[in-house]
Amino acid sequence: MQFQIQQDIQPQLKLSKKVQLMLCCPLCHSKLELYREDYQCQNPECKTNFPIKNGIPILIDEKSSIFSIEDFLNERNTFFDLSPKNPFLEALKSLIPEISLNIKSRKNYNHFAEILLSLSTHPKVLVIGGSILGQGTETIVDNPKIELVETDISFGSRTIIICDAHSIPFANNSFDGVIVQAVLEHVVDPWQCVEEIHRVLKDDGLVYAETPFMQQVHGGCYDFTRFTYLGHRRLFRKFEEIDSGAVCGSGMALAWSYYYFLLSFTKSKFWRKIITFFVRITAFPFKYFDYFLINQFGTLDAASAFYFMGKKSKQILTDQELIKLYKGAN
Ligand SMILES: [Zn+2]
Repeated sequence: MQFQIQQDIQPQLKLSKKVQLMLCCPLCHSKLELYREDYQCQNPECKTNFPIKNGIPILIDEKSSIFSIEDFLNERNTFFDLSPKNPFLEALKSLIPEISLNIKSRKNYNHFAEILLSLSTHPKVLVIGGSILGQGTETIVDNPKIELVETDISFGSRTIIICDAHSIPFANNSFDGVIVQAVLEHVVDPWQCVEEIHRVLKDDGLVYAETPFMQQVHGGCYDFTRFTYLGHRRLFRKFEEIDSGAVCGSGMALAWSYYYFLLSFTKSKFWRKIITFFVRITAFPFKYFDYFLINQFGTLDAASAFYFMGKKSKQILTDQELIKLYKGAN
């Protein structure tokens, strides 16, 4: 009978059978079993139920998350505003240049994919904050050999699991790679999240992270931390470095400062929209300086965002070793 029920429900799930088998309880890491319309933890001392909404399991540990399962069952706005946008303003926005420019991500993802495919013929990659397509991820997304497991704390076109990076619902040593792009500034405890990333990676598994340094608040109440180049390296101290550096430069940081300087004059939605258009038209060229500046030493003291690519290691980088890695201009 239970088998019959599972047959009825499983086609509605957005995740593959293989990924379903890899899931575990985000509270106690015990096995999950699909029962009627919920996932149920099989640990008799836990027995937590996790509902499924529109084919997407909601695997949230409510004790450690700022979100509740109810938030997702009721489709409340969590990180992204899911309410319909004004199509006229969106069309107008797409016509004028942006002030942001990510110079390195495409090249970095190509490098990431190359190493992943040398470790495994069909690598599985967990994407944290993957409700929408990340910048530069096209080659990874289009590669049929790489299986992406796109998770987020927001429903989006690509979300297949709702989960929180503070308690990832996968067993130890599950993934060949983890991508965490423009996410760690939006979590309350980035160190705990990187601990979780380390746990779910296989030995020698790869992490790719991009995290802002000189960027103003951009997620409303969901924006908590920034990292210097060395602060970011220390966050990943249980990883052996493959590559690191600035991904968005100081030209972009300058444009953002100018933008937020003007925004700080007003709370009015109307004027903030006018400022957005004005800044885009007057400050978009700043980002082009970054093609020249991105690899300069001074950029490591002033970049808009940094990246880190590393391999899970059993060694921990000490703080004495850390300070020797400073490569800025001072
Ligand atoms: Zn449990």
